[in-house]
Amino acid sequence: MGGNAYYRVTVISAMRTNYIFVTGGVISGIGKGITAASIGKILQARGYRVTAVKIDPYLNYDAGTLRPTEHGEVWVTEDAGEIDQDLGHYERFLDINIPKRNNITTGQVYGAVIERERRGEYLGKTVEVIPHITDEIKRRIRAAAEEAEADFTIVEIGGTVGEYQSEIYYMAARMMKGDGDRVIFIHVAYLPIPKHLGEMKTKPVQQSVEKLGELGIQPDFIICRAEGFIDDVRKEKISIFCNVPKDHIISNPDLENVYELPLIFEQQNLGKKIVEKFGMGLREPKLDDWKQFVDALNNATRKVKIGIVGKYFETGEYRLPDAYISVIEAVKHACATFFVKPVFAFIDSTDFEMDSDRLSILDELNGVIVPGGFGTKGIEGKIATINHVRVKKIPFLGLCLGLQLAVVEYARNAIGLERANSTEFDPDTPHPVIDILPEQKEILKESRYGASMRLGAYPAVLKPGTLVSRLYGGASIIYERHRHRYEVNPKYHEKLQSHGMIFSGVSPDGRLVEFIELDNHPFFVATQAHPEFKSRPLKPAPLFKGFIDACIRG
Ligand code: GLN
Repeated sequence: MGGNAYYRVTVISAMRTNYIFVTGGVISGIGKGITAASIGKILQARGYRVTAVKIDPYLNYDAGTLRPTEHGEVWVTEDAGEIDQDLGHYERFLDINIPKRNNITTGQVYGAVIERERRGEYLGKTVEVIPHITDEIKRRIRAAAEEAEADFTIVEIGGTVGEYQSEIYYMAARMMKGDGDRVIFIHVAYLPIPKHLGEMKTKPVQQSVEKLGELGIQPDFIICRAEGFIDDVRKEKISIFCNVPKDHIISNPDLENVYELPLIFEQQNLGKKIVEKFGMGLREPKLDDWKQFVDALNNATRKVKIGIVGKYFETGEYRLPDAYISVIEAVKHACATFFVKPVFAFIDSTDFEMDSDRLSILDELNGVIVPGGFGTKGIEGKIATINHVRVKKIPFLGLCLGLQLAVVEYARNAIGLERANSTEFDPDTPHPVIDILPEQKEILKESRYGASMRLGAYPAVLKPGTLVSRLYGGASIIYERHRHRYEVNPKYHEKLQSHGMIFSGVSPDGRLVEFIELDNHPFFVATQAHPEFKSRPLKPAPLFKGFIDACIRG
């Protein structure tokens, strides 16, 4: 009976789901993810259940093995998915946990179809891209919508229309509409303003809509990404050439604060227009808390200077903080609650390895974060940073690798264990204070790098009376997300603690160190987890909140 009840519920929810496919035109990197997340936000603000699916048309199974300087941060879900960072925007904007199944890659789709073929499940039929691959894509999208029992499912098709590798997804989307699913298309396209003309040009948008047309898709809305708002003349032009009503052409101007985008959309009544398009009940949006949050980020005047000492900034000639986006957003969330404005210094730790005098730039900061990372590059510079902030009593927050290096620094300089290190960076260290667990070693031996991590949410038992326990509101057990291979070596637990390092949180069996802190310091806290993944605009992560509070108090 239970099974039948479940079946009924899922069928009903699948029927009522409204699918919003978000496509991109002209160029990539125009904030399609933020746009899609903002569309979700204004629908959710009306009391509708919203979920999001991100399609990545690459062959990688997931984002776990992608290089951070090339692809930005890897987002970790509660259920241990390693996903494109766009899922992070959805979780932040919508304040929901999105499961890993909501990220669809070409690697997964083809993998599933080929496996099914090998099992003989196609019963001797010729297995072809159409319909078998498109069926699998449709199945995955619908399953995500059903599981979330969503009123609206936003499906972002990664990349730009016209790219060969994403064509199959546009086809699947079009077929869903043909199958009778409730589907609309929102096309996000870029309008350049060439310097020598000084005028916003619409031709690239028109051409990208033509490309969609070739795939059988007519957009219902066009969202115009540009430096500024689009004027009436250009709206008219796009409307005529692209066959979209003028009031379905929406501006999406450059914003310093991306959290403002849902409000910009609301000003243009996009939420109401989408709801009307689907024939759903009109409801007033509730965005007061969100407005307050946006107001704090835009209008706070008191500045707090935060250094992020990392190593994934270089891409060619540019220094991009993309690899640390969740850390940056978590700082913003925490700053908004205190009505202060964060000013970031992105510092490459290798700078300190070349010249240790440069460490003095840290003295100008209100606080320093050492975020996660992999590989030997920049490690000694990070250790020097941690030593500097520990001794100079500058607020410090260590995340994952940041905890591991805080332990290494403490072992070397406070306990006197010379050459202490993580075996990730020095396999022959006489004091492997950070080491790999035996079970992980087995997986690595087989070169299964994609599967060798402690990934997703894990519990930590907090020690009453510690700063960390206070920051988590006195909770005795909390869950944060992880993504790492190495751990504090249990053989050194006693030594570290007897020399004053406080283990403020450990795994339920006591074997894994999850949080550390030091006394006699304004704020010296580190965690083996990545609390930045659970920080939300209106619910900042407790450690970030405590850190910013300490930075302000100085
Ligand atoms: N490289 C370290 C490990 O694998 C830390 C990883 C991280 O910071 N996410 O354990």
